[in-house]
Amino acid sequence: MEIKQKTKKGYDPIALTETTEKIVIQGNRRKYANLARHLRFYGGTISATEVGCNLRCKFCFSDAPVRKPKITGRFYTPGQVFNALSRKADKHNCKLISASAAEGTLGKEHLFELLDLVDQSDYVYILETNGMTIGNDPEFAKELSRFKNLHVRVSIKGANEDEYFMLTSASKESYQLPFKALNNLIKNKVSCNACVMVSFSDQNSIKGVQNRLEQIAPGILKSLELESITMFPKVAKRLKKANLKPNTIQYRGKIITV
Ligand code: SF4
Repeated sequence: MEIKQKTKKGYDPIALTETTEKIVIQGNRRKYANLARHLRFYGGTISATEVGCNLRCKFCFSDAPVRKPKITGRFYTPGQVFNALSRKADKHNCKLISASAAEGTLGKEHLFELLDLVDQSDYVYILETNGMTIGNDPEFAKELSRFKNLHVRVSIKGANEDEYFMLTSASKESYQLPFKALNNLIKNKVSCNACVMVSFSDQNSIKGVQNRLEQIAPGILKSLELESITMFPKVAKRLKKANLKPNTIQYRGKIITV
């Protein structure tokens, strides 16, 4: 999907949220490419593959769900998604369920109905987000605070504005949104943690983002995840085209310097 809002200063992820929602949301239904996969994260989780994102990270492992939302996946109701996730979670004895490979906060109606179903169960839902929508709308975190079986993982793309622009081509101003999201979530007592993509960062910029996060809440560093990319062939091809070279990558569960 081409980004119509693209300018020299970068596209606006909030405008891209609206155009993407028109494609991947129909009433309370959202597009998914797969309803339940068993993943090794968090010691074992069952995850659905969503379609549609409001960023275009050059290192993203998810290809068609982000870049070709029109021709990828099918629409499902929250009930269909929950049933598929819970059936597989029972089979694998997992307590954690989630959706990944795209942006988790698109389509509030769908998300809130899904979280209502999770709240009536023993599962915990990990909401994976890049923080754009929750940072842009303070009401969002307030609305999420009514769900008890929820944890929000806010993923920050790069350790500063320049890295973020280089990695996503989004406007530098929007880099502040995941920090605002964390602030809004903490203020509303929603369980959350931060994660930063540091494959392209040096020690100084990592220290810088840690200081920035610490100003939101000192305890936030305890659960901070520093993430490195996995060099899938499509990722390697995209990075080469963009002339981007990571300092670290994840390989067979280990972080290696390249
Ligand atoms: S926010 Fe996540 S899903 Fe979206 S493009 Fe970036 S890495 Fe991919």
